[in-house]
Amino acid sequence: MQALIEGFLKFQKEAFPQRTDLFKHLATTQHPGTLFITCSDSRVVPELLTQQEPGELFVIRNAGNIVPSYSPHPGGVSATVEYAVAVLGVTDIVICGHSDCGAMTAVAKCTCMDHLPAVGSWLQHAESAKVINESRPHASEAAKVSSMVRENVIAQLANIQTHPSVRLAREKGLLNLHGWVYDIETGSVDALDANSHRFVALCEYPDTCALPARSAEAAA
Ligand SMILES: [Zn+2]
Repeated sequence: MQALIEGFLKFQKEAFPQRTDLFKHLATTQHPGTLFITCSDSRVVPELLTQQEPGELFVIRNAGNIVPSYSPHPGGVSATVEYAVAVLGVTDIVICGHSDCGAMTAVAKCTCMDHLPAVGSWLQHAESAKVINESRPHASEAAKVSSMVRENVIAQLANIQTHPSVRLAREKGLLNLHGWVYDIETGSVDALDANSHRFVALCEYPDTCALPARSAEAAA
């Protein structure tokens, strides 16, 4: 904990004075353009990975970067998605999985969750991805986990489209959906490509999008 307090003191002394104008502007308003949904894993740092400043990313983090499908009893993730889309008007949502994900490793390896009932229940939101991943051959356990991470991103992109606010923004052609997988060791990102339905290197294909916003004309 001492490291955190020392870090805060350093922030107050060094980082904050460099951004006083930004923080003064942000004191009463925020206009983030992107909702970034990723895992709680300590090694995934959205603002570092995307080089964004305060005020630029609206973030949801949980075990396994999961977005439960919309239901009559929506929870915190659903409320946060709704606020980001319907109130803040984000134009992009990124669902970002990552390498060596503990949650997806547990799902891929069918790890017994009897001693972690909350985690086990939560990870059932990745069930459709698990079923698809199980149906495919994998060269190794590591490949199976890696594939699970990708299938989970695809499944959560499907889940988020059951949310009314997302449906409406998509219908209006105002919202792009992105599926990313971040590799911790190499710092690279693979992104789901709408056309090929494959993950491609974002550095090689920076325009890659999982589900581009439909234009109003195209939707009509
Ligand atoms: Zn994770």
